Amino acid sequence: MFAKLVPVPLILDGNRIRDQIKAECLPRVKRLLAHAGRPPGLAVVLVGNNPASQVYVRGKTKTAGELGIYNETITLSADISTDELCSLISSLNHREEIDGILVQLPLPKQIDEQRILLEITPEKDADGFHPYNAGLLATGQPGLRPCTPAGVIEMLKRYEIPIVGRNAVVVGRSNIVGRPMAMLLLQQNATVTICHSRTRDLPAVCRTGDILVAAIGRTAMITAEYIRPGAVVVDVGMNTVTDRAEAERIFDPSRLEAFDRRGNLLVGDVHPGDMARLASAYTPVPGGVGPLTIAMLMRNTIETAERRTGL
Ligand code: NDP
Repeated sequence: MFAKLVPVPLILDGNRIRDQIKAECLPRVKRLLAHAGRPPGLAVVLVGNNPASQVYVRGKTKTAGELGIYNETITLSADISTDELCSLISSLNHREEIDGILVQLPLPKQIDEQRILLEITPEKDADGFHPYNAGLLATGQPGLRPCTPAGVIEMLKRYEIPIVGRNAVVVGRSNIVGRPMAMLLLQQNATVTICHSRTRDLPAVCRTGDILVAAIGRTAMITAEYIRPGAVVVDVGMNTVTDRAEAERIFDPSRLEAFDRRGNLLVGDVHPGDMARLASAYTPVPGGVGPLTIAMLMRNTIETAERRTGL
């Protein structure tokens, strides 16, 4: 009798791809410096004191610094008005040495987020959230792409995961992740299904996916019944588990020990054990999609600088 062989899934290592992308950025920064006499410039606007946003902004400026990208963080008080924020962005739009502008989301409730995103000139829209850039993506034209989904495509390509003709199911339709993710997969000639909170029989739809992307914001919601055996699973979700009972549902004993030590653990939208058991390839959380977002932001900033300086 032969034991049944269970293939070992490929773990898509975001840190490795991030390092590759960063290494490719360095000579481009140098070339720009030689060509234009200045490095690419990134302005990050942080409104209020949301601790998570502060951590994200620090990560972005740290990486920019490592790559020699000029960067400045403009920190504003939480009670700023939409008009005041618009006029700050307008001044950044006019500054020659600033190539990329990023407004860290979410913004405080009183601020009209759409107006803010519209105010950033599309050529400096490092996050790719301006409706002009979203329109370019939707019509299949080159433009600045949102960093997280662009990072996912980069990861799939570098691991030579076939996309053409594959059924790709994206759960989530936000403008930041799900929707552009679906457009990018379509551009790569996948057959794309977009799911959301009103999708009927979500597990059955998800099981049609050769590639399944979860961008939901619900802790380990995607369990075995959603995953087609052998699928490539991309887990964009980042959720913090603090409840012991929930941790027991999600983590194996070795990770539970870590949970008990720290009191919390990061988990995606996909159940990690089910994903590892069923997928042919998957992105772990942490260490999968997360590291790519900042790397792609750096690449977008360099791209805007190259375009603006005629390189
Ligand atoms: P949003 O809350 O903006 O969007 C969530 C989407 O999921 C919505 O389209 C929503 O549907 C859908 N959804 C919610 N509940 C369900 C459900 N029960 N069944 C099916 N669909 C559902 O989140 P984001 O897109 O901004 O982020 C998604 C996740 O990705 C989060 O965990 C976030 O932390 C993470 N993230 C990670 C990044 C990274 O760098 N790794 C970067 C950005 C986000 P509907 O539209 O109908 O409401």
